[in-house]
Amino acid sequence: MELVHNIQHADIVHRCFRCGYCKFPSDYSDFNCPSYKAFGWDTYSPGGRMWLIRGWMEGEIKTNSHFAEIMYACTACDNCKNQCVFPRFRDFLPEIFEETRAELVNEGFVPPPVRDYFKAVTINGNPYKLPQERRGDWAAGTGIQKFSGHEYLLYIGSVGAWDEIGQKMTRSVARVLIKAGVSVGILADEETCDGNDVKAMGETGLFKQLATDNIIKFKEKGIVKIITLDPHAYNAFKKDYPPLGADFQVFHHTQIMAELLKEKRITPSTYPVTVTYHDPCYLGRHNAIYGPPRDILKAIPGLALVEMRQSGVNGFCCGGGGGNFFTDILGSGEDSPGRVRVRQALQTGASVIAVACPNCAKMLCDAVKAEGLEEILRVQGIAEIIEQASL
Ligand code: SF4
Ligand code: SF4
Repeated sequence: MELVHNIQHADIVHRCFRCGYCKFPSDYSDFNCPSYKAFGWDTYSPGGRMWLIRGWMEGEIKTNSHFAEIMYACTACDNCKNQCVFPRFRDFLPEIFEETRAELVNEGFVPPPVRDYFKAVTINGNPYKLPQERRGDWAAGTGIQKFSGHEYLLYIGSVGAWDEIGQKMTRSVARVLIKAGVSVGILADEETCDGNDVKAMGETGLFKQLATDNIIKFKEKGIVKIITLDPHAYNAFKKDYPPLGADFQVFHHTQIMAELLKEKRITPSTYPVTVTYHDPCYLGRHNAIYGPPRDILKAIPGLALVEMRQSGVNGFCCGGGGGNFFTDILGSGEDSPGRVRVRQALQTGASVIAVACPNCAKMLCDAVKAEGLEEILRVQGIAEIIEQASL
């Protein structure tokens, strides 16, 4: 059959038999596809999307704003890749969704907030439309300097650099690294978007341009090792930059901090609190980093770590992936991912939700407010917890 719309993996889309297992966690106890959980329609589930894409490729469904909205409601959380029962194509599920979004970009048919996001990143180098010269303002008072031959670059990313809640996490990470004697610098006003979410939203041309510019810049500065604040940047640097010529050693800040603890270069005293850890999708499912954040928390005297029912490989997305942090296509209703996640955290009896991603920090802070739980639950970055335990 001649296809009306084509994508790279068009030849395997028909293999989905719509059993629906992909929207659950591995114990099938609840839904674990955030967009299905938020909207409750099968078209918003991974299998439903596959069937929509099939109908769209074959011309039964026209490209329209509803189709685009459903494609962009996917947070790229990767749960379906883990849970689809059909091994011969499950690895390609998120790619098929990304390829479909890329085709929507090619056809000029993306939801307005997605279009605005691309425009802001293209013009300003960040989605906040803020002036680049102020990108390093967060660093004032932390002691971290601009990169000049340090062992590591600390790459922040747009949310950590500009968002108030993200900046709080960033400042803690910088202070903890400096206090531990790590040789680390930042790019400040020379840092631009890493492009991870640009790629997830299907703007492959813009992603390639951002990635290539960053690779050239990092190499010119002699950067070899990169610590990322943000799991999204970690994912892009680790997986998507190497095919474009990058050969940097990349670490997430929790990996470095777990080592610093082992070497006793970080020595927290005590923090008597019950904490539950929220796995960021781009650190957990996308990159299989589950241990280091938990190792840090377990090493803090007095701290009790409790797990949410959906954690680790079954972690429930905060709703901020795939660009939804900026486009807000999933909204903030009662079953929005952040609010669902906060209720899951509440069930553990914890008073702190530990996070390792600035996007998760913001999404969950907003959700705590929306649930009216500010007196019971607070959201803290792993480095903020280390600092609190060192007071
Ligand atoms: S994507 Fe996989 S698990 Fe989901 S409906 Fe299709 S075959 Fe079933
Ligand atoms: S990647 Fe996540 S949000 Fe997207 S379809 Fe799969 S489970 Fe749902």
